[in-house]
Amino acid sequence: MRTGRASALTDTGRRRPHNEDTFVCDPPLFAVADGVGGAQAGEIASRLAAAALEERPPGSLGTDTLTALILEANNRIYMRALGDPEAAGMGTVVTALLVDETAATIAVGHVGDSRAYRIRHDVLEQLTPDHSLVGELVRAGRLSTEEAEQHPHRSVITRAVGTEPIVDVHTETLAALPGDLYLICSDGLTDLVRDERILELVAAAEDDPEVAVQSLVDAANSAGGIDNITVVLFEILDGDPVPPPAPIAVEPDDDTAEHAIEPESSAVVSPAAQAAPVQRHGAGAGGRWLALFAILLTIAIAGLVIWWSLKR
Ligand code: MN
Repeated sequence: MRTGRASALTDTGRRRPHNEDTFVCDPPLFAVADGVGGAQAGEIASRLAAAALEERPPGSLGTDTLTALILEANNRIYMRALGDPEAAGMGTVVTALLVDETAATIAVGHVGDSRAYRIRHDVLEQLTPDHSLVGELVRAGRLSTEEAEQHPHRSVITRAVGTEPIVDVHTETLAALPGDLYLICSDGLTDLVRDERILELVAAAEDDPEVAVQSLVDAANSAGGIDNITVVLFEILDGDPVPPPAPIAVEPDDDTAEHAIEPESSAVVSPAAQAAPVQRHGAGAGGRWLALFAILLTIAIAGLVIWWSLKR
């Protein structure tokens, strides 16, 4: 199997002054983060989370990768909030999916009340538990799904990334099938558009992710747009896994200073390195050429000094 078309859209909605949602649509990684906090702190928190996710080392897959990235996001947001009174207490919910095309699986990493759904054979299924007050009550059998949808405190979350020094990340690995569609969205969609309607709108878009995400955002806005709305949609197709991007060849052809330093700024990742967790910021070839240049420079300066002292 392989990842097919993907599309993502975020919208401020009709009531909020800012958009505190952020998405990642960077195959094989897809995520939604919905920030919480005073002033514009929610925006900072969700962007910090997305940035941490986007630093995923190429080739690293699975739930361990997602947990590590979300814990890194947690640490960055928590530390930032400690040092900035305006951002105190900020946090974000994060729902991330990471596709492993070779294993035909999808890793889920999730904290909070954004949701991931799968549409398979025209059936919509929620993949993530809502870490919200009403979500916990529904799971405990003390509230029906219908009651939860109307509950005045339905937006109270019970877990967030960055509000505490550590966070409990919900993870799961799911088998993927060709024809599956995966949807990740913030509560700005699901508070206003019911699951049945989401399925109808995606079907009406004839599974075209770009058309579907636009019509889902439009539906939430038509229903009031009371919150920021973010939707990420991607499809899984039959076929061979897409090979990782070809490594950038770095062959320094002379030892000028310019060429010696250049490789530092462009990540060099061999296919072998992509198969395993890699250290992206190692010295590598660039470091060696820089060291050689430094040695040559030292010899040249020493020679000059000797020549100058002999001349006297
Ligand atoms: Mn929201």
